[in-house]
Amino acid sequence: MSQTDYDVVIIGGGPAGMTAGLYTSRAELKTLLVEKMIMGGQVMTTTKIENWPGYPGGIDGPELMMKFQEHCVEFGLETTTGTVEKIEDQGRTKRIIIDGKEIISSVVIIATGVIPKKLDIPQEKERVGRGVSYCATCDGAFFRNVPIAVIGGGDTAAEEALFLKRFGSKVLMVHRRDELRATKILRTRIAKDEKIEMVWNSVVESLKSDNTGLTGMALRDVKTGELTEVDVAGIFVAVGVVPTTDFVADILQLDEDGYIKAGEDTCTNVLGIYAAGDCRTNILMQISTAVGDGAVAALMAERYIDALQQDA
Ligand code: NAP
Repeated sequence: MSQTDYDVVIIGGGPAGMTAGLYTSRAELKTLLVEKMIMGGQVMTTTKIENWPGYPGGIDGPELMMKFQEHCVEFGLETTTGTVEKIEDQGRTKRIIIDGKEIISSVVIIATGVIPKKLDIPQEKERVGRGVSYCATCDGAFFRNVPIAVIGGGDTAAEEALFLKRFGSKVLMVHRRDELRATKILRTRIAKDEKIEMVWNSVVESLKSDNTGLTGMALRDVKTGELTEVDVAGIFVAVGVVPTTDFVADILQLDEDGYIKAGEDTCTNVLGIYAAGDCRTNILMQISTAVGDGAVAALMAERYIDALQQDA
């Protein structure tokens, strides 16, 4: 077999990446998991997870991810912090550039997940950390007893609104349609909650601020075109997600939204490169589906490495 540093390199330390790492390490494949920021991925920003089996009453995202990490380390998974800049397919080996350094591996599993989508309105970028946030768990406590708004109508927006109501004097939920996309259980909770006020058929047109911070926003009614100014000290943007796949755009086939084209078997258009979890074309983005993908990608990696060895 060709000289390699690792049998498997996994990119991304969320539920998909960690599960893949647990399985490949347990299968005695020499594995390195590379994470750009902190292990745990998007789940680290979730306060209470109610739909991961085995935890009646729910479990905090960071607590669950710590357990995932402990479990991986138990089987010897090696982890490192770094940014993968490029992957090159060299046939039987893959060349991975991490912060300028080269690593050669037989297999690469991409599990880079998604990041929050931006509203793309003026002042949004400048106000991040000063009135604009993409993470209620991280920043909610800075907005005690002031009016705050959540923008979006999906599961994330609903969960953020339900979390933020403990801090804000009131929570506005601004949605561009007149029906939430969020699952029924969350829709019901939002509807029953007196502290959460819905603003239907509306989008944020612009932000208002002074030297003390964010002071308000202008909302546009998408049906009438009418503009309304609303006082808010903080907005939490939850208008969907985009996959972290730019670094593989030159080597892997992506769909029109940037998700890696890979089916249930996690196989991409390149032999020996697999895509697991939210970064691949998927009908459901859940911890449970990411975990399933991680396990499948690990199995595919094992089979592929076996085939390489037989062919050596
Ligand atoms: P999402 O399901 O894509 O919802 C995005 C929401 O933002 C939609 O309501 C959408 O409106 C709205 N939106 C999109 N672009 C907008 C814009 N430019 N301006 C204003 N509104 C805009 O995203 P998500 O809530 O982040 O969830 C992502 C995935 O993670 C989903 O599959 C979700 O089920 C999953 N998730 C699951 C859980 C859980 O199981 N507990 C928790 C969080 C997330 P429209 O409805 O009109 O399109």
